Amino acid sequence: MAFDLPKDPRDALDWDWSRFKPYYDELAARELDAAHLDEWMADWTAIGALEREVGVRIRIELDLHSDDPAREARYTRFLEQVDEPAMAAVQTLKQKLLASGLTPRNFAIPLRNMKAEAELYRAENLPLLTEHEKTALEYDKIVGSRMVDWKGKDCTLTQLVGEIAGGSREVREEGWRLAMESSLADSKDIDSVWTRLMGIRAKIAKNAGEKDYRDYAWKQRLRFEYSPKDCASFGDAIEKAVVPAARRVYERRAKRLGVKSLRPWDVSVDVMRSTDINVDCFGRPALRPFGEVSELEAKAGGIFSKVDPRLGAYFESMRAARLYDLPNYKGKAPGAYCTGLDASRKPFVLLNAVGGPGDVDTLLHEMGHAFHTFQCYENPELRYYQLWDYPAEFAEVASMSMELLGSPFITKAEGGFYTEEEAARARIMHLEQFLLFWPFMAVVDGFQHWAYESGKGADPAECDAAWSRLWDRFIQGVDWSGLEKEKAKGWQRKLHPFHYPFYYVEYGFAQLGAVQIFARYLKDRKSAVSGYLHGLSLGYSVTLPELFKASGGRFAFDAATLSEAAGVLEREIEKEEKKL
Ligand SMILES: [Zn+2]
Repeated sequence: MAFDLPKDPRDALDWDWSRFKPYYDELAARELDAAHLDEWMADWTAIGALEREVGVRIRIELDLHSDDPAREARYTRFLEQVDEPAMAAVQTLKQKLLASGLTPRNFAIPLRNMKAEAELYRAENLPLLTEHEKTALEYDKIVGSRMVDWKGKDCTLTQLVGEIAGGSREVREEGWRLAMESSLADSKDIDSVWTRLMGIRAKIAKNAGEKDYRDYAWKQRLRFEYSPKDCASFGDAIEKAVVPAARRVYERRAKRLGVKSLRPWDVSVDVMRSTDINVDCFGRPALRPFGEVSELEAKAGGIFSKVDPRLGAYFESMRAARLYDLPNYKGKAPGAYCTGLDASRKPFVLLNAVGGPGDVDTLLHEMGHAFHTFQCYENPELRYYQLWDYPAEFAEVASMSMELLGSPFITKAEGGFYTEEEAARARIMHLEQFLLFWPFMAVVDGFQHWAYESGKGADPAECDAAWSRLWDRFIQGVDWSGLEKEKAKGWQRKLHPFHYPFYYVEYGFAQLGAVQIFARYLKDRKSAVSGYLHGLSLGYSVTLPELFKASGGRFAFDAATLSEAAGVLEREIEKEEKKL
């Protein structure tokens, strides 16, 4: 039987659980055998995709006007009254499928994931997981409530960045020190949040029968294809192959700024993102890639068509159906994301564009995710909605690659945003960011391994010392002398260890995949793009190494692969510098 569901998913936006439930009940009750497996799976996809799309649409409505209490109430109601019972209903169907011993088409990997999740599941961990979430939210509250007095003006730390980013070196230092002082003032409160989180995590791991929380997190994050040992070798390889290249980035920066040694405020004035480059070092007029957002839209569309006509067509279809919302305005949720409308089989992209060069990179990035989503939806081999997910390590390959694949077309001569000289500056900043990211990622990842391996991770003083050791090992070329206390508390300025334990190395792997695709692109654009699109079309039907391979890279973390990647980036930077 095929379910008779609304043709337009928007007609289900006001459904309560009683409208969804009969479909899940019917699937749970229906006899499941090999002959009817495909039909059962297809029906599950129909109702599951509809429920997911309804939730995503209600969330988008809220994000577009996050200051509207009615939208917020609608979203909360959906989470509590529809999504929670739906999760339980889906759990029942997963168990039914596992118990049947059947494997739907292309479903070996999702089945592997379901098994692992079922093995880790313990009812007694549910209240602990909620407690963990609540405790982690205390971190947000502390960080979000920080205010400073900048020249008589009350500023959040984010607003302060805007005030000081374009200022003189003295202004930057003053602002940086002020922000740092404010973030150190409540460090004891964050120490307390951390120690409690570590306690909760230890209990969760014990309940699940795991040796420690790292073992638990490994299974929970479905990390089948690499081990903690591999992460340690990745760190060693970064130290060997990337740290020297990052040091050269800092040296060039010091030279451009005309300073003898770089201080933290010469790299970034945002103390919460301390290795991001947000200090202009060229001393030339600021880059303003576009005026109106319509210009960003039109030119980005041109870039995608030049990378590949299929991408241009995807973007055009999103434009026609208003499947993105780009400008920043009052009341809109911050940040940027791409999400999927599973029943309509279309992506949606949200941005907060204000006219800076970061907006161009962010649009390319999010559209990379959107193309990934399209490629999965349109692959007839991926019949079931579980196959439209993909591992986090690969999701960012899609988006980070797009940033690089689009970069040849950002000049006015190619219909893009910049003069040759401006494009060179934008590309240098972008490529340098790639080089600086790996060492920083190694610090964040190394810290998390240390926290569970050493047995000392719950002690904040030990955390300070461990972070400082890692910082000195990986971040070379910026002078932190006299700022030892500020340096040591760096782990408190990274939200991942608090909210998403162990989630960070994914970005490092993905970036390496993206640079490999870029290297191929520099030699042969056509074959690189078709490999990229092929990898994106596989959804979650194959393993992580197979996804990397299909898209033209290698899932590797050795020094040779990294130094090749760093070499590609450095050579590109060198080429761009000649255009300045
Ligand atoms: Zn992303």
